[in-house]
Amino acid sequence: MTAPHQRVGVFGGTFDPIHHGHLAAASEVCAALGLDRMIVVPTHVQPFKQGEQVASDEHRLAMCRLAVADDPRFSVSSVDIDRGGTTYTVDTLRDLANANPGAQLYFMAGADALARLSEWKDAEELSTLATFVGVTRPGHSLGQLDTPHALVEVPAMAVSSTDVRRRVRAGAPIRYLVPSAVADYIAQHDLYAGGLDD
Ligand code: ATP
Ligand code: MG
Repeated sequence: MTAPHQRVGVFGGTFDPIHHGHLAAASEVCAALGLDRMIVVPTHVQPFKQGEQVASDEHRLAMCRLAVADDPRFSVSSVDIDRGGTTYTVDTLRDLANANPGAQLYFMAGADALARLSEWKDAEELSTLATFVGVTRPGHSLGQLDTPHALVEVPAMAVSSTDVRRRVRAGAPIRYLVPSAVADYIAQHDLYAGGLDD
């Protein structure tokens, strides 16, 4: 059971695949806000990515687990994948609040994701469930947001999952953009090599 008043970060995303931009941002948010831990939550079907091809839930979950294995602050939750259907952050936060009674939740998202916060399901309820933390991302402005509760400037890493997938298809290197264990997993399972995903 969670100790009361723990400060717990929640980082939702498609993570197709998880990369060092995600990990550096999550680590910075932990330090900046003094969080006790950070839960990485891969989505099932992301509402804004419906119809796009993504690697299977199992592959994305496995890569997230490999990526955080060495960091005791980080864990991975499959609540969104287990619930199935379209992933809405309001459900993620309700489930994690139930699973972590007494915890104070901090939901972090990059500038690009937060720019559409007002379109998220039950947008008003969201802010009662968690503190929203916007993080900087190269190429995206945090300027015109619907006021997240906190802003954290994170090391500028211009890496995206789209770029990683493109690189794999093109035979370009991805090592150092993703954790080694993730690069090995992608190679072993022949992910992203042939698909049309963007
Ligand atoms: P894709 O290119 O497939 O959209 P992505 O790199 O944007 O992948 P997502 O899984 O879509 O990764 O993003 C999950 C969350 O991580 C979002 O809130 C996004 O803004 C944030 N994020 C992703 N990459 C970075 C980065 N390099 N720096 C800061 N935040 C990031
Ligand atoms: Mg994205």
